[in-house]
Amino acid sequence: MAYIEFHRINKLYEGGVHAIEDVSFEIEKGQFTVLVGPSGCGKSTFLRMLAGLEEVTTGTIKMDGKIINEVHPKDRNISMVFQNYALYPHLTVYENIAFGLKLKKIKTPITNEAGEVVRYKTSSIPKTEIDEKVKEVAEKLELTAYLSRKPKQLSGGQKQRVALARALVRNNDVFLLDEPLSNLDAKLRVEMRKVIKSLHQNVKKPFIYVTHDQVEAMTMADKIIVLKLGVIQQIGSPKEIYDEPSNLFVATFFGSPSMSIIDGTLLEEKGSLYVELKNNDKLYIPNDLINEFLDYSMVGKEVKVGFRPTSYRVSKPEHIEHYSMIHGEVFYKELFGSETLIKVKIAEGNNIDVFIPNDVNPKIGDTIELYAHTAKMKLFDPTSERSIFGTTKTLTIKNVDYKINDKNIVFSLASKSHTYPIGKRVITSIEKSGKLNVSFDTENITLEEIPDSVSITGKVVLVKNLFNRNAIFVEIKDRKEPLFFYLSKDKKINVGDDVTMYVGYDYINFHKVDNTPILSRYDIVNEVKENDIALVKKALKIRSNDNIKIPLMGVRVITNRKTILTNKEEFYKAKAICLNAEDYNGNTLLYYKIKGMKGYLTAILDKKIDMVKQPILKLGIPKK
Ligand code: ADP
Repeated sequence: MAYIEFHRINKLYEGGVHAIEDVSFEIEKGQFTVLVGPSGCGKSTFLRMLAGLEEVTTGTIKMDGKIINEVHPKDRNISMVFQNYALYPHLTVYENIAFGLKLKKIKTPITNEAGEVVRYKTSSIPKTEIDEKVKEVAEKLELTAYLSRKPKQLSGGQKQRVALARALVRNNDVFLLDEPLSNLDAKLRVEMRKVIKSLHQNVKKPFIYVTHDQVEAMTMADKIIVLKLGVIQQIGSPKEIYDEPSNLFVATFFGSPSMSIIDGTLLEEKGSLYVELKNNDKLYIPNDLINEFLDYSMVGKEVKVGFRPTSYRVSKPEHIEHYSMIHGEVFYKELFGSETLIKVKIAEGNNIDVFIPNDVNPKIGDTIELYAHTAKMKLFDPTSERSIFGTTKTLTIKNVDYKINDKNIVFSLASKSHTYPIGKRVITSIEKSGKLNVSFDTENITLEEIPDSVSITGKVVLVKNLFNRNAIFVEIKDRKEPLFFYLSKDKKINVGDDVTMYVGYDYINFHKVDNTPILSRYDIVNEVKENDIALVKKALKIRSNDNIKIPLMGVRVITNRKTILTNKEEFYKAKAICLNAEDYNGNTLLYYKIKGMKGYLTAILDKKIDMVKQPILKLGIPKK
């Protein structure tokens, strides 16, 4: 079990910013985790939710197996270090470090004669103990000589070390660091990175470090979590993120200069796959990469081709089978110490950055021929922007017959009928019957029976050997295209085997045949949170003791005093604060709350709402 678990976290700020969207990840004890992404992607929101300074809108945070959503910040045993140090200017370094300890209370159990705890005695930490701890930590952070100085007599680096010392001295279970080095100059930042890393190795507790700086993420992390607009792009070790970026965003976020992206078309010829560039150069995909290549539907289509500046040679390389020639015009060069960076134009709007040895020294305007290391080439689907090598693929089963009965979508697949409960996640109003597309990611297929899932049976038609796993292709009845998923190599499975695949309800998505979504991406069942029940009941004037269920459908907006609900008795009336109003297939998916609520409610309205013009709504909520 991981030490910290984030499960399906959503954060909606008042005013409608969906800062975190359906994010799940885990942090192991002792791991140095870096949350990285451009400004505004939700990094600080995450730290604040973990520290308890910000409410989680939906989802759970677990620490050491216990849900901590409702635990008071001071009881979470978390230390935080901020960019602006937050030191007390009137206290000395010593007093700043000792401050938290002086306030800390220790609880000592008082037992009776039978050894049972009867009460707790609270006391402060003894002065001598505080002194010992402060000095020990000061020593670790090389602050001993500065203990009697005030913060204004310190350099930026020293101030940040005091902030670290203050976090460290309290001996908490988790350390959160929010852009701690952004105020320091480049040289100090490099130094402080080392200080923080060695501190982490020393205390062996989880550090969660937030930064927008890809270099910090690469150099410090055991595990990197890349965020963009509140959505996880990739989780992995620095090497995985750098070598195997899962999409164009990650590919171009890391590295300086970052990966160059150019256009090509993926083609097949006599069993070999190649990419043809805009200047007709052909880049052959080496055989071991073909092994990883899974999305055959991309053959014949346009792709985005990515190379890092270090992936070229100017002289003939040893393993020539891993290289293809690429040529273009040099239009820029810059000395980068031991190497020269050149920019080469392959075709209009298609430029690459290339590091070459200084002695090659081409002139601006020269045509240069390069051996491109195709074993390191990345290919991306221009539409989804996802890598088409070895990553998760979304499988879509098109034109599936469905009908709606009162509580389920019933759809038929592999000559079997499957039910998906409506209300599990929001379903926009759709016809009572027709055709839809069902999709899920390969990684969410499992062969072990799981509750709340759809099961699909089929026959294994191909087992494709990849580096450390097998891709299993399964033919299902009534479908031409096989489904596939990955299985670790120690799980034996053979061509001809019958298999049943399970996909949890949470991971299934439905789209109309034109691909407009039918389900929301996240759980938004209107379960009123425990601590909101009293407030909601009061606001809606609900007297019964029943569990309250606020329906998503049938909610109306009362626009003016004259709007009279036809059957007044069938509706609760409520004044609502509009948190967000998403256009949903011509309808509106509304997120709202009643003043004072911690959580939020949702409704599907059959009209458009502009939340800027209507920040407060009067709603009629059906009682049924
Ligand atoms: P980062 O730390 O990655 O720069 P934040 O977590 O601070 O990003 O913010 C994520 C998003 O949430 C941004 O769009 C930001 O404007 C918004 N946001 C942050 N705090 C609030 C708040 N208190 N109210 C409304 N929106 C907020």
